[in-house]
Amino acid sequence: MSVRVRFAPSPTGTLHLGGARTAIYNWAFARRNAGVLVLRIDDTDPERSTAENTEQILRSLRWLGVDWDEGPEVGGDHGPYFQTQRGPAYADALERMKSTGNAYPCFCSPDELAAKRDLARSAGGFSGYDRTCRDAAGAHERVAAGEPHVWRLAVPLGRGPVIVDDAVRGATEFPIEAMDDFVLARSDGSPTYNFATVVDDATMEITHIIRGDDHLANTPRQILVFEALGHAVPAFAHLSMIWGADGKKLSKRHGATSVEAYEEMGFLPQAMLNYLALLGWSLDGETTIVPPEVLKATFSLDRISKNPAIFDPDKLEWMNGAYLREMGDGEFVDAIAPWLIRAGLTTAQDVSGRRDWYRALAPLIAERVKRLDEVAEKVRFFFEEPVIDEDTRDKVLAKEGAPEALQAAADALEACDFTASSIEEALRLVPEAVGVKPKVAFQAVRVAVTGSTVSPPLFETLELLGKQTSLARIEAARVLLSQPRI
Ligand code: GLU
Repeated sequence: MSVRVRFAPSPTGTLHLGGARTAIYNWAFARRNAGVLVLRIDDTDPERSTAENTEQILRSLRWLGVDWDEGPEVGGDHGPYFQTQRGPAYADALERMKSTGNAYPCFCSPDELAAKRDLARSAGGFSGYDRTCRDAAGAHERVAAGEPHVWRLAVPLGRGPVIVDDAVRGATEFPIEAMDDFVLARSDGSPTYNFATVVDDATMEITHIIRGDDHLANTPRQILVFEALGHAVPAFAHLSMIWGADGKKLSKRHGATSVEAYEEMGFLPQAMLNYLALLGWSLDGETTIVPPEVLKATFSLDRISKNPAIFDPDKLEWMNGAYLREMGDGEFVDAIAPWLIRAGLTTAQDVSGRRDWYRALAPLIAERVKRLDEVAEKVRFFFEEPVIDEDTRDKVLAKEGAPEALQAAADALEACDFTASSIEEALRLVPEAVGVKPKVAFQAVRVAVTGSTVSPPLFETLELLGKQTSLARIEAARVLLSQPRI
Protein backbone atom coordinates (compact mmCIF):
# COMPACT_ATOMS: atom_id res chain seq x y z
CA MET A 1 0.00 0.00 0.00
CA SER A 2 1.54 3.31 -0.94
CA VAL A 3 1.30 6.16 1.50
CA ARG A 4 -1.07 9.01 0.73
CA VAL A 5 -1.35 11.84 3.24
CA ARG A 6 -2.98 15.20 3.11
CA PHE A 7 -2.67 18.65 4.58
CA ALA A 8 -6.08 20.29 4.66
CA PRO A 9 -5.88 23.91 5.82
CA SER A 10 -8.96 26.09 6.15
CA PRO A 11 -8.16 29.38 4.43
CA THR A 12 -9.73 31.40 7.20
CA GLY A 13 -6.37 32.94 8.05
CA THR A 14 -2.72 32.74 7.11
CA LEU A 15 -0.57 29.67 7.71
CA HIS A 16 0.35 29.69 11.38
CA LEU A 17 3.09 27.78 13.16
CA GLY A 18 0.88 24.89 14.26
CA GLY A 19 -0.52 24.42 10.75
CA ALA A 20 2.96 24.63 9.29
CA ARG A 21 4.17 21.90 11.64
CA THR A 22 1.26 19.68 10.60
CA ALA A 23 2.11 20.32 6.95
CA ILE A 24 5.79 19.56 7.56
CA TYR A 25 5.02 16.24 9.27
CA ASN A 26 2.71 15.17 6.46
CA TRP A 27 5.28 16.19 3.89
CA ALA A 28 8.19 14.50 5.65
CA PHE A 29 6.12 11.35 6.15
CA ALA A 30 5.17 11.28 2.47
CA ARG A 31 8.75 11.83 1.35
CA ARG A 32 10.18 9.28 3.75
CA ASN A 33 7.77 6.64 2.45
CA ALA A 34 7.94 7.62 -1.22
CA GLY A 35 4.29 8.51 -0.88
CA VAL A 36 2.06 11.34 -2.02
CA LEU A 37 1.19 14.56 -0.22
CA VAL A 38 -2.18 15.96 -1.16
CA LEU A 39 -2.95 19.59 -0.43
CA ARG A 40 -6.65 20.15 0.02
CA ILE A 41 -8.21 23.49 0.76
CA ASP A 42 -11.03 23.21 3.28
CA ASP A 43 -12.77 26.38 2.18
CA THR A 44 -16.30 25.51 3.27
CA ASP A 45 -16.67 28.46 5.62
CA PRO A 46 -17.81 31.06 3.10
CA GLU A 47 -17.62 34.01 5.47
CA ARG A 48 -14.07 33.50 6.65
CA SER A 49 -12.40 31.76 3.70
CA THR A 50 -10.64 34.02 1.23
CA ALA A 51 -8.62 33.56 -1.93
CA GLU A 52 -5.90 35.76 -0.42
CA ASN A 53 -5.56 33.43 2.54
CA THR A 54 -5.31 30.46 0.20
CA GLU A 55 -2.58 32.13 -1.82
CA GLN A 56 -0.81 33.10 1.32
CA ILE A 57 -0.90 29.52 2.65
CA LEU A 58 0.47 28.14 -0.61
CA ARG A 59 3.17 30.77 -0.62
CA SER A 60 4.23 30.02 2.95
CA LEU A 61 4.34 26.29 2.23
CA ARG A 62 6.48 26.86 -0.84
CA TRP A 63 8.72 29.18 1.15
CA LEU A 64 9.24 26.46 3.75
CA GLY A 65 10.13 24.03 0.98
CA VAL A 66 7.03 21.91 1.57
CA ASP A 67 5.97 20.80 -1.89
CA TRP A 68 2.83 18.82 -2.61
CA ASP A 69 2.15 16.21 -5.26
CA GLU A 70 -1.55 16.81 -5.75
CA GLY A 71 -3.57 19.91 -5.10
CA PRO A 72 -3.90 23.54 -6.15
CA GLU A 73 -1.45 24.64 -8.84
CA VAL A 74 -0.24 21.10 -9.49
CA GLY A 75 -3.49 19.22 -10.16
CA GLY A 76 -3.82 15.46 -9.80
CA ASP A 77 -6.20 12.56 -10.31
CA HIS A 78 -8.27 13.10 -7.18
CA GLY A 79 -9.41 16.69 -7.65
CA PRO A 80 -10.92 19.14 -7.39
CA TYR A 81 -8.83 20.06 -4.37
CA PHE A 82 -11.06 22.80 -3.01
CA GLN A 83 -13.95 21.60 -0.87
CA THR A 84 -16.27 24.24 -2.34
CA GLN A 85 -15.86 22.52 -5.71
CA ARG A 86 -16.57 19.05 -4.39
CA GLY A 87 -20.32 19.34 -3.92
CA PRO A 88 -21.08 16.44 -6.29
CA ALA A 89 -18.80 14.10 -4.33
CA TYR A 90 -20.61 14.94 -1.08
CA ALA A 91 -24.06 14.61 -2.69
CA ASP A 92 -23.07 11.29 -4.17
CA ALA A 93 -21.74 9.98 -0.86
CA LEU A 94 -24.88 11.14 0.95
CA GLU A 95 -27.04 9.28 -1.57
CA ARG A 96 -25.08 6.14 -0.85
CA MET A 97 -25.49 6.64 2.88
CA LYS A 98 -29.23 7.11 2.42
CA SER A 99 -29.62 4.02 0.30
CA THR A 100 -27.75 1.88 2.78
CA GLY A 101 -29.77 3.26 5.67
CA ASN A 102 -26.72 4.89 7.24
CA ALA A 103 -28.23 8.35 6.96
CA TYR A 104 -31.72 9.42 7.92
CA PRO A 105 -33.63 12.70 7.68
CA CYS A 106 -34.32 14.66 10.84
CA PHE A 107 -37.09 17.23 10.98
CA CYS A 108 -36.55 18.51 14.50
CA SER A 109 -36.36 22.29 14.59
CA PRO A 110 -33.40 24.09 16.16
CA ASP A 111 -35.67 25.18 19.04
CA GLU A 112 -36.82 21.65 19.68
CA LEU A 113 -33.23 20.44 19.61
CA ALA A 114 -32.11 23.11 22.06
CA ALA A 115 -34.93 22.21 24.44
CA LYS A 116 -34.05 18.50 24.27
CA ARG A 117 -30.42 19.27 24.88
CA ASP A 118 -31.18 21.33 27.95
CA LEU A 119 -33.39 18.61 29.30
CA ALA A 120 -30.80 15.91 28.66
CA ARG A 121 -28.10 17.97 30.28
CA SER A 122 -30.07 18.68 33.40
CA ALA A 123 -30.84 14.96 33.68
CA GLY A 124 -27.13 14.30 33.33
CA GLY A 125 -27.67 11.68 30.64
CA PHE A 126 -26.67 11.32 26.98
CA SER A 127 -26.43 14.84 25.63
CA GLY A 128 -26.45 13.99 21.93
CA TYR A 129 -29.50 13.95 19.71
CA ASP A 130 -32.24 11.74 21.18
CA ARG A 131 -32.82 10.00 17.84
CA THR A 132 -36.51 10.97 17.67
CA CYS A 133 -36.54 10.96 13.88
CA ARG A 134 -34.41 7.87 13.46
CA ASP A 135 -37.14 5.34 13.00
CA ALA A 136 -40.08 7.70 12.65
CA ALA A 137 -42.71 6.67 10.14
CA GLY A 138 -43.48 8.84 7.12
CA ALA A 139 -40.00 10.31 6.75
CA HIS A 140 -39.92 9.58 3.05
CA GLU A 141 -43.16 11.45 2.46
CA ARG A 142 -42.09 14.41 4.55
CA VAL A 143 -38.85 14.73 2.56
CA ALA A 144 -40.79 14.44 -0.69
CA ALA A 145 -43.17 17.14 0.51
CA GLY A 146 -40.22 19.48 0.98
CA GLU A 147 -40.33 19.71 4.75
CA PRO A 148 -37.03 21.23 6.04
CA HIS A 149 -34.67 18.57 7.33
CA VAL A 150 -31.05 17.68 7.93
CA TRP A 151 -29.43 14.28 7.37
CA ARG A 152 -27.98 12.48 10.32
CA LEU A 153 -25.70 9.50 10.68
CA ALA A 154 -27.52 6.43 11.97
CA VAL A 155 -24.89 5.32 14.47
CA PRO A 156 -24.69 1.49 14.30
CA LEU A 157 -25.76 0.88 17.89
CA GLY A 158 -24.93 -2.80 17.92
CA ARG A 159 -21.40 -2.25 16.69
CA GLY A 160 -19.39 -2.26 19.90
CA PRO A 161 -17.02 0.50 20.93
CA VAL A 162 -15.18 2.65 18.42
CA ILE A 163 -11.47 2.28 18.98
CA VAL A 164 -9.25 5.10 17.86
CA ASP A 165 -5.80 3.60 17.54
CA ASP A 166 -3.66 6.67 17.29
CA ALA A 167 -0.01 6.44 16.27
CA VAL A 168 0.91 9.06 18.86
CA ARG A 169 -1.51 8.47 21.72
CA GLY A 170 -2.24 4.79 21.50
CA ALA A 171 -5.75 3.36 21.65
CA THR A 172 -8.82 5.09 23.07
CA GLU A 173 -12.21 3.46 23.29
CA PHE A 174 -15.49 5.26 22.74
CA PRO A 175 -18.64 3.33 23.73
CA ILE A 176 -21.01 3.28 20.80
CA GLU A 177 -24.00 4.33 22.94
CA ALA A 178 -22.23 7.59 23.65
CA MET A 179 -21.90 8.39 19.96
CA ASP A 180 -24.23 11.03 18.63
CA ASP A 181 -26.29 10.66 15.44
CA PHE A 182 -24.54 13.80 14.25
CA VAL A 183 -25.55 15.87 11.24
CA LEU A 184 -23.96 14.92 7.93
CA ALA A 185 -25.74 17.44 5.72
CA ARG A 186 -27.47 20.64 6.77
CA SER A 187 -30.94 21.69 5.66
CA ASP A 188 -29.46 23.58 2.72
CA GLY A 189 -27.74 20.36 1.65
CA SER A 190 -24.24 21.51 2.60
CA PRO A 191 -22.06 18.85 4.25
CA THR A 192 -20.71 19.29 7.76
CA TYR A 193 -16.97 19.20 8.39
CA ASN A 194 -17.03 15.63 9.69
CA PHE A 195 -18.84 14.40 6.62
CA ALA A 196 -16.99 16.40 3.95
CA THR A 197 -13.62 15.51 5.44
CA VAL A 198 -14.31 11.80 5.40
CA VAL A 199 -15.76 11.85 1.88
CA ASP A 200 -12.62 13.66 0.74
CA ASP A 201 -10.21 11.46 2.65
CA ALA A 202 -11.98 8.39 1.28
CA THR A 203 -12.16 9.52 -2.35
CA MET A 204 -8.62 10.88 -2.21
CA GLU A 205 -7.53 7.48 -0.88
CA ILE A 206 -5.76 8.92 2.14
CA THR A 207 -3.94 6.25 4.13
CA HIS A 208 -2.69 8.29 7.13
CA ILE A 209 -4.30 11.31 8.73
CA ILE A 210 -1.74 13.42 10.57
CA ARG A 211 -3.29 16.49 12.16
CA GLY A 212 -3.63 18.56 15.31
CA ASP A 213 -5.21 16.98 18.37
CA ASP A 214 -7.93 19.63 18.29
CA HIS A 215 -9.54 17.12 15.91
CA LEU A 216 -9.25 14.18 18.28
CA ALA A 217 -12.88 14.35 19.34
CA ASN A 218 -13.96 14.20 15.68
CA THR A 219 -12.06 11.04 14.99
CA PRO A 220 -14.49 8.40 16.34
CA ARG A 221 -17.28 10.09 14.40
CA GLN A 222 -15.21 10.12 11.25
CA ILE A 223 -14.37 6.45 11.70
CA LEU A 224 -18.10 5.67 11.70
CA VAL A 225 -18.53 7.59 8.45
CA PHE A 226 -15.63 5.74 6.81
CA GLU A 227 -17.28 2.50 7.80
CA ALA A 228 -20.71 3.61 6.61
CA LEU A 229 -19.17 4.47 3.26
CA GLY A 230 -17.62 1.01 3.15
CA HIS A 231 -14.14 2.45 3.13
CA ALA A 232 -11.04 1.29 4.97
CA VAL A 233 -10.29 3.50 7.96
CA PRO A 234 -6.97 5.33 7.60
CA ALA A 235 -4.34 5.40 10.31
CA PHE A 236 -4.39 8.44 12.58
CA ALA A 237 -1.68 10.49 14.24
CA HIS A 238 -2.80 13.42 16.35
CA LEU A 239 -0.24 16.04 17.21
CA SER A 240 -0.16 17.74 20.57
CA MET A 241 -0.63 21.44 20.81
CA ILE A 242 2.21 23.90 20.66
CA TRP A 243 2.46 25.96 23.83
CA GLY A 244 4.06 29.25 24.65
CA ALA A 245 6.64 29.32 27.47
CA ASP A 246 3.79 30.02 29.92
CA GLY A 247 2.18 26.66 29.19
CA LYS A 248 -0.75 28.19 27.33
CA LYS A 249 -1.74 27.36 23.78
CA LEU A 250 0.42 29.34 21.37
CA SER A 251 -1.36 32.52 20.37
CA LYS A 252 -0.74 36.13 19.39
CA ARG A 253 0.09 36.84 23.02
CA HIS A 254 3.34 34.94 22.50
CA GLY A 255 4.38 37.04 19.50
CA ALA A 256 4.07 36.40 15.81
CA THR A 257 2.26 33.20 14.92
CA SER A 258 2.10 33.33 11.13
CA VAL A 259 4.84 31.75 9.07
CA GLU A 260 4.97 34.81 6.89
CA ALA A 261 5.84 37.01 9.87
CA TYR A 262 8.90 34.85 10.46
CA GLU A 263 9.93 35.23 6.85
CA GLU A 264 9.63 38.99 7.29
CA MET A 265 11.73 38.85 10.46
CA GLY A 266 14.59 37.32 8.54
CA PHE A 267 14.35 33.66 9.39
CA LEU A 268 15.58 31.13 6.87
CA PRO A 269 13.05 28.64 5.57
CA GLN A 270 15.31 25.68 6.31
CA ALA A 271 15.84 26.83 9.91
CA MET A 272 12.13 27.35 10.34
CA LEU A 273 11.42 23.91 8.90
CA ASN A 274 14.01 22.33 11.19
CA TYR A 275 12.75 24.15 14.26
CA LEU A 276 9.09 23.37 13.64
CA ALA A 277 9.90 19.74 12.86
CA LEU A 278 11.48 19.40 16.30
CA LEU A 279 8.40 20.78 18.03
CA GLY A 280 7.07 17.36 18.87
CA TRP A 281 9.34 15.07 16.88
CA SER A 282 12.95 14.12 17.35
CA LEU A 283 15.51 12.27 15.33
CA ASP A 284 17.25 10.66 18.28
CA GLY A 285 16.41 12.83 21.26
CA GLU A 286 19.50 14.99 20.97
CA THR A 287 20.31 16.09 17.41
CA THR A 288 19.13 19.66 16.93
CA ILE A 289 20.26 20.38 13.39
CA VAL A 290 18.10 18.31 11.09
CA PRO A 291 18.25 19.77 7.58
CA PRO A 292 15.35 19.16 5.20
CA GLU A 293 17.05 16.29 3.38
CA VAL A 294 17.71 14.49 6.67
CA LEU A 295 14.16 15.08 7.84
CA LYS A 296 12.81 13.64 4.59
CA ALA A 297 14.98 10.58 4.99
CA THR A 298 14.33 9.87 8.66
CA PHE A 299 10.90 11.12 9.71
CA SER A 300 8.70 8.55 11.40
CA LEU A 301 5.46 8.70 13.35
CA ASP A 302 6.84 6.67 16.22
CA ARG A 303 9.17 9.48 17.22
CA ILE A 304 6.36 12.00 17.65
CA SER A 305 5.89 13.00 21.27
CA LYS A 306 2.57 13.01 23.10
CA ASN A 307 3.66 15.93 25.24
CA PRO A 308 2.87 19.48 24.23
CA ALA A 309 5.83 21.18 22.59
CA ILE A 310 7.01 24.54 23.85
CA PHE A 311 7.74 27.22 21.31
CA ASP A 312 10.95 28.97 22.30
CA PRO A 313 11.76 32.01 20.13
CA ASP A 314 15.32 32.17 21.48
CA LYS A 315 16.01 28.64 20.37
CA LEU A 316 14.58 29.39 16.96
CA GLU A 317 16.91 32.40 16.68
CA TRP A 318 19.85 30.32 17.77
CA MET A 319 19.01 27.74 15.13
CA ASN A 320 18.62 30.38 12.46
CA GLY A 321 22.05 31.74 13.37
CA ALA A 322 23.48 28.25 13.10
CA TYR A 323 22.06 27.86 9.59
CA LEU A 324 23.38 31.29 8.60
CA ARG A 325 26.87 30.38 9.76
CA GLU A 326 26.77 27.12 7.85
CA MET A 327 25.89 28.78 4.56
CA GLY A 328 28.45 29.04 1.80
CA ASP A 329 29.50 32.59 0.96
CA GLY A 330 27.58 32.65 -2.31
CA GLU A 331 24.48 31.28 -0.64
CA PHE A 332 24.76 33.89 2.10
CA VAL A 333 25.06 36.66 -0.47
CA ASP A 334 21.90 35.42 -2.18
CA ALA A 335 20.10 35.38 1.14
CA ILE A 336 21.09 38.88 2.22
CA ALA A 337 20.86 40.60 -1.17
CA PRO A 338 17.07 41.20 -1.06
CA TRP A 339 17.41 42.67 2.42
CA LEU A 340 20.16 45.07 1.38
CA ILE A 341 18.24 46.07 -1.74
CA ARG A 342 15.07 46.66 0.27
CA ALA A 343 17.03 48.81 2.73
CA GLY A 344 18.13 50.95 -0.20
CA LEU A 345 21.80 50.11 0.31
CA THR A 346 22.45 48.46 -3.00
CA THR A 347 20.96 47.15 -6.23
CA ALA A 348 20.71 43.72 -7.80
CA GLN A 349 23.12 44.91 -10.51
CA ASP A 350 25.73 45.89 -7.95
CA VAL A 351 25.43 42.54 -6.19
CA SER A 352 25.97 40.60 -9.40
CA GLY A 353 28.56 43.06 -10.76
CA ARG A 354 30.72 42.97 -7.63
CA ARG A 355 29.95 39.45 -6.54
CA ASP A 356 33.46 38.77 -5.24
CA TRP A 357 33.28 41.78 -2.97
CA TYR A 358 29.96 40.58 -1.56
CA ARG A 359 31.33 37.08 -1.12
CA ALA A 360 34.23 38.51 0.86
CA LEU A 361 31.72 40.40 3.02
CA ALA A 362 29.77 37.23 3.79
CA PRO A 363 32.05 35.62 6.41
CA LEU A 364 32.42 38.93 8.26
CA ILE A 365 28.67 39.17 8.74
CA ALA A 366 27.41 35.59 8.86
CA GLU A 367 29.12 35.04 12.23
CA ARG A 368 27.49 38.09 13.74
CA VAL A 369 23.81 37.83 12.98
CA LYS A 370 21.00 35.51 13.94
CA ARG A 371 18.46 36.93 11.54
CA LEU A 372 18.61 38.40 8.08
CA ASP A 373 16.81 41.54 9.21
CA GLU A 374 19.88 42.46 11.29
CA VAL A 375 22.22 42.51 8.31
CA ALA A 376 21.40 45.87 6.72
CA GLU A 377 22.25 47.86 9.86
CA LYS A 378 25.44 45.90 10.36
CA VAL A 379 26.73 46.67 6.87
CA ARG A 380 25.23 50.13 6.32
CA PHE A 381 28.62 51.82 6.79
CA PHE A 382 30.00 49.95 3.78
CA PHE A 383 27.50 51.76 1.60
CA GLU A 384 26.97 55.07 3.35
CA GLU A 385 29.21 57.52 5.17
CA PRO A 386 29.11 56.69 8.86
CA VAL A 387 27.58 59.15 11.27
CA ILE A 388 29.58 59.45 14.47
CA ASP A 389 27.50 60.56 17.42
CA GLU A 390 28.85 63.03 19.95
CA ASP A 391 29.18 60.56 22.73
CA THR A 392 31.33 58.23 20.64
CA ARG A 393 33.36 61.13 19.36
CA ASP A 394 34.09 62.28 22.91
CA LYS A 395 34.74 58.87 24.35
CA VAL A 396 36.77 57.34 21.54
CA LEU A 397 38.05 59.83 19.00
CA ALA A 398 38.90 62.57 21.49
CA LYS A 399 40.52 60.21 23.95
CA GLU A 400 44.04 61.09 24.88
CA GLY A 401 46.40 59.92 22.17
CA ALA A 402 43.60 58.95 19.78
CA PRO A 403 44.00 61.89 17.36
CA GLU A 404 47.69 61.09 17.07
CA ALA A 405 46.90 57.43 16.55
CA LEU A 406 44.50 58.35 13.74
CA GLN A 407 47.20 60.39 12.05
CA ALA A 408 49.74 57.60 12.41
CA ALA A 409 47.22 55.03 11.17
CA ALA A 410 46.51 57.14 8.11
CA ASP A 411 50.23 57.34 7.34
CA ALA A 412 50.73 53.62 7.84
CA LEU A 413 47.72 52.71 5.70
CA GLU A 414 48.77 55.07 2.95
CA ALA A 415 51.95 53.06 2.52
CA CYS A 416 50.37 49.60 2.65
CA ASP A 417 49.01 47.45 -0.17
CA PHE A 418 45.69 46.98 1.58
CA THR A 419 45.16 43.33 2.12
CA ALA A 420 43.84 42.43 5.56
CA SER A 421 47.20 40.99 6.58
CA SER A 422 49.27 43.94 5.42
CA ILE A 423 46.77 46.28 7.06
CA GLU A 424 47.16 44.37 10.28
CA GLU A 425 50.91 44.47 10.07
CA ALA A 426 50.87 48.23 9.44
CA LEU A 427 48.38 49.08 12.17
CA ARG A 428 49.99 46.86 14.82
CA LEU A 429 52.93 49.26 14.89
CA VAL A 430 50.80 52.33 15.54
CA PRO A 431 50.04 52.05 19.28
CA GLU A 432 53.63 51.78 20.28
CA ALA A 433 54.77 54.48 17.91
CA VAL A 434 52.26 56.91 19.37
CA GLY A 435 52.45 55.62 22.93
CA VAL A 436 48.83 54.57 23.42
CA LYS A 437 47.19 51.29 24.32
CA PRO A 438 46.29 49.19 21.24
CA LYS A 439 42.63 49.45 22.15
CA VAL A 440 42.72 53.27 22.00
CA ALA A 441 44.27 53.27 18.55
CA PHE A 442 42.16 50.49 17.04
CA GLN A 443 38.89 51.79 18.44
CA ALA A 444 39.66 55.24 17.05
CA VAL A 445 40.21 53.77 13.59
CA ARG A 446 37.14 51.58 13.94
CA VAL A 447 34.91 54.50 14.86
CA ALA A 448 36.39 56.64 12.11
CA VAL A 449 35.62 54.12 9.37
CA THR A 450 32.46 52.42 10.66
CA GLY A 451 30.89 55.07 12.92
CA SER A 452 30.57 52.54 15.71
CA THR A 453 32.58 50.89 18.44
CA VAL A 454 31.18 47.53 17.39
CA SER A 455 31.89 46.25 13.90
CA PRO A 456 33.09 43.25 11.96
CA PRO A 457 36.85 42.54 12.34
CA LEU A 458 38.73 45.73 11.68
CA PHE A 459 41.44 44.65 9.23
CA GLU A 460 39.07 42.78 6.95
CA THR A 461 36.61 45.65 7.16
CA LEU A 462 39.28 48.11 6.04
CA GLU A 463 40.28 45.86 3.17
CA LEU A 464 36.69 45.68 1.98
CA LEU A 465 36.20 49.40 2.31
CA GLY A 466 39.30 49.97 0.21
CA LYS A 467 42.19 52.30 0.70
CA GLN A 468 40.61 55.44 -0.66
CA THR A 469 37.43 55.22 1.40
CA SER A 470 39.29 54.19 4.54
CA LEU A 471 41.71 57.09 4.32
CA ALA A 472 38.96 59.56 3.48
CA ARG A 473 36.99 58.47 6.54
CA ILE A 474 39.97 58.72 8.85
CA GLU A 475 40.56 62.18 7.48
CA ALA A 476 36.90 63.11 7.99
CA ALA A 477 37.15 61.94 11.60
CA ARG A 478 40.18 64.15 12.14
CA VAL A 479 38.31 67.08 10.67
CA LEU A 480 35.40 66.32 12.97
CA LEU A 481 37.76 66.39 15.93
CA SER A 482 39.21 69.70 14.94
CA GLN A 483 35.79 71.32 14.77
CA PRO A 484 34.44 73.07 17.82
CA ARG A 485 31.56 71.27 19.50
CA ILE A 486 28.15 72.70 18.78
N1 GLU B 1 -9.49 22.01 7.76
C1 GLU B 1 -9.24 21.50 9.08
C2 GLU B 1 -8.48 22.52 9.88
O1 GLU B 1 -7.85 23.39 9.32
C3 GLU B 1 -8.38 20.26 9.07
C4 GLU B 1 -9.16 19.09 8.76
C5 GLU B 1 -8.46 17.81 9.08
O2 GLU B 1 -7.22 17.79 9.13
O3 GLU B 1 -9.18 16.84 9.23
O4 GLU B 1 -8.50 22.45 11.08
